[in-house]
Amino acid sequence: MQTSQIYGPTLREIPAEAELVSHQFMLRAGLMRKSTAGVYTYLPLGLIVLHKIMAIIREEMTSAQGQEILLPIMQPAELWHETKRWDDYGDEMFKLVDRHKRQFCLGPTHEEVITALVRADVRSYRQLPLRLYQIQNKYRDEIRPRFGVIRGREFIMKDLYSFDIDEQGLHESYQAMFQAYTRIFERCGLSALPVEADSGAIGGDATHEFMVLADSGEADIVYCSACDYAANVERAEFVAPDVHTITNDSANSDCIQELDTPHTTTIDELTSALEISADKLIKTMIYLADKKPIAALIRGDYTLNEVKLQKALDCQELVLADAQTTEQVTSAPVGFAGPVGLSIPIIVDYSVMTMSHGITGANQRDLHLANVTLGRDYQATAIADLREAKSGDPCPHCSEALESARGIEVGQVFKLGTKYSEPLEATFLDENGKKRPMIMGCYGIGVSRTMAAIIEQNHDSDGICWPINVAPYHVIIVPVNYKDEAQKNVADAVYRQFLDAKVAVVLDDRHERPGVKFKDADLIGYPIRITVGPRLLPEKQVEVTIRHNKEQLTIHLDEVLEKVSRLLYG
Ligand code: ATP
Ligand code: MG
Repeated sequence: MQTSQIYGPTLREIPAEAELVSHQFMLRAGLMRKSTAGVYTYLPLGLIVLHKIMAIIREEMTSAQGQEILLPIMQPAELWHETKRWDDYGDEMFKLVDRHKRQFCLGPTHEEVITALVRADVRSYRQLPLRLYQIQNKYRDEIRPRFGVIRGREFIMKDLYSFDIDEQGLHESYQAMFQAYTRIFERCGLSALPVEADSGAIGGDATHEFMVLADSGEADIVYCSACDYAANVERAEFVAPDVHTITNDSANSDCIQELDTPHTTTIDELTSALEISADKLIKTMIYLADKKPIAALIRGDYTLNEVKLQKALDCQELVLADAQTTEQVTSAPVGFAGPVGLSIPIIVDYSVMTMSHGITGANQRDLHLANVTLGRDYQATAIADLREAKSGDPCPHCSEALESARGIEVGQVFKLGTKYSEPLEATFLDENGKKRPMIMGCYGIGVSRTMAAIIEQNHDSDGICWPINVAPYHVIIVPVNYKDEAQKNVADAVYRQFLDAKVAVVLDDRHERPGVKFKDADLIGYPIRITVGPRLLPEKQVEVTIRHNKEQLTIHLDEVLEKVSRLLYG
């Protein structure tokens, strides 16, 4: 390919809308263009990279007994009613109506469609297990589409669904996918960490997310350096305190005491006004769970995680109550809520179980209560793990201090069990002729997000440093002055030699200044640049620059193909 013919102009300026490096470089290097919020067009170089990622995924899916199919993007509402997800999926789903007033959605995910497919074709255990996958666009009306293709509204996903006859089969499918994912991300030049995760709207019991560690990541994770525990903070569990400790600790004879706390509504204000540390406080937060008010309690120095709370409440929707609702429920302004005398469900975090001298709001303006004790002064509707893990917390496996990091979720594997096969009646006859639901798993990789994540992990201030397996081209030949006949002849000859050797090579045939050409080559991130210039040409030499470490080598023309091939392919 010749640079003059590649459609994908590079941009000098950093586009104002692009916060993340990957987003900036994907626009600047001419890999993609924005069409509308969260929707992008891939240009030739970007599409080559996507295809390379897809090729790696396809190879690994095939090795793990996956068979590729292509499911429809447009899906009928009836299927989603069968699983009750038409309403539950919420505003993220793009819905449409045809001329006969039938409702459809643009698939945000494909459990319904694939389960309906398999239930129609599979009758017997002899037809199982099945591992079917596709690579296709998904549609999700994200509240905040951002970071380019990292959070798009139209994006490319690989999704595989496994259908097994029993739990053992599911376990094997899950393991096979887990290992395939590990290999896929490795081959893409990514270091991705599998972490335990919450199963969210898709449901099911066991799940791991594959996280690319990056400060720009939207997910918070904790991991243990002493053992191999790693989890999303939404999931990282705390062990419930020993019941005996609770009984001993709460043998507290000090009765409730009122504390005047005028205009003191935040944890910071309380700790300074009362001269205490935040761990003496019980934070009481009022939420609306499926529109009904509940109170959630946690120790003052901890953060409540809403995903955990939603799980404990088993509700579809959870929002922090507004000031008006909080006032109605607690009869006090925001900042003075407490559990004593409240007549709504009270969900208590483990951390509050052992507090016998807790200070909390009195449900009265400018008043707090001290010595508040669970069981004596108020009752818990439920006790649960609501606390968000952070660095320094004990590892649930080995008790060492956890470390924290941020990550970009590039993939997720789920054990679904019978969550979809039961409502959709995807059954088979077992060896004894007994009808049983299929045991399912689902496994997704964000293909377009993976492309951005690769850039997040592989770049410098000048541009992208593509790992060889996903680089759009491996080599660029840059004549310093293509108008100079000697340089042109050598550049053309080297180009031809590399083409003949089936190396993915580009010739920069533009009549641009060398600086412009070098900048573009660095921005796009070709792993190797061969510069043909007047300084070395008399010696029949060229300069070879390795993109990722900027190392420069002088190589004789007779050896350039061999030496560059060795640099690239070992
Ligand atoms: P997130 O928590 O980031 O919203 P998710 O858990 O909803 O993602 P899954 O349903 O597990 O996503 O989808 C599988 C994969 O698809 C994710 O691991 C991610 O890589 C990718 N993905 C999900 N949403 C988007 C999006 N809006 N844009 C690009 N890729 C996405
Ligand atoms: Mg996910």
